[in-house]
Amino acid sequence: MKKNLTFWLGLGLAIFLLVGGFWLQSVTSQTRVDHLMLGNPSNASSDVANVDNYLMTKPEYVLSYSSSKRIPNWVSWQLNSSWLGDADRANNFRPDPDLPKGWFAVRQSDYTGSGYDRGHMTPSADRTKDPDTNSATFLMTNILPQTADNNRKVWERLEAYSRTLVKQGKELYIIAGGAGQKEVIKTGKISIPASTWKIIVVMDKTGLSVSDISDRTRIIAVNVPNEKDLGEDWKPYLTSVDKIEKLTGYDFLSNVSTEIQKAIESKVDK
Ligand code: MN
Ligand code: MN
Repeated sequence: MKKNLTFWLGLGLAIFLLVGGFWLQSVTSQTRVDHLMLGNPSNASSDVANVDNYLMTKPEYVLSYSSSKRIPNWVSWQLNSSWLGDADRANNFRPDPDLPKGWFAVRQSDYTGSGYDRGHMTPSADRTKDPDTNSATFLMTNILPQTADNNRKVWERLEAYSRTLVKQGKELYIIAGGAGQKEVIKTGKISIPASTWKIIVVMDKTGLSVSDISDRTRIIAVNVPNEKDLGEDWKPYLTSVDKIEKLTGYDFLSNVSTEIQKAIESKVDK
């Protein structure tokens, strides 16, 4: 009798742990997305003393913010088909409520009349799986001033091209930001970068990890002047990761082995 009870209690516990374990695994694998899988290019941290390299982690993307420039240093995000759906463009540009207390939070109106677009780093069209996800791309910490000719032509073309890669089954890790400074938007003292750069690491399929990156992994890197009359095509602006590292002082793909970084960061996509 006594042995029987111990047996059933033991069996019950075993089943509980097994089912619980599978449940936990399925929940975490569904929600755990590592936008920084390739590394944190500027060693940003969420310490409020880090005023010009402040790490902000959101479900939709991760960024480093500069409170003196009032723009992101870089924004990093994963893109695969699970992010794409039919949510409408929310268009609700707004101050980021997650900035530390006392920091100036850029408003939509700070760009009004500046002659510059509110340029998304993580594009609205990369986050269409549901309305809340799309809305997150309109936080002003994901935005920097871009000329219309940059934002609506070259930059937009490359964004659209990256989504065609996703439709072919690829998974992308993308990092984008601005480099240099032309001037500032007077009202909000917002830094206007001299150029906008982007690095796209193309993984053959979804679910691969850093260790799957080899010297044959495709990388698309561009540096686009934040100027007028740039044409439509992004290919004239192709460059290497090495060049963008030199330009920004950041170390991209730092989670990839140094040998493979060496091999792929000097290449220019064709
Ligand atoms: Mn845009
Ligand atoms: Mn690197």
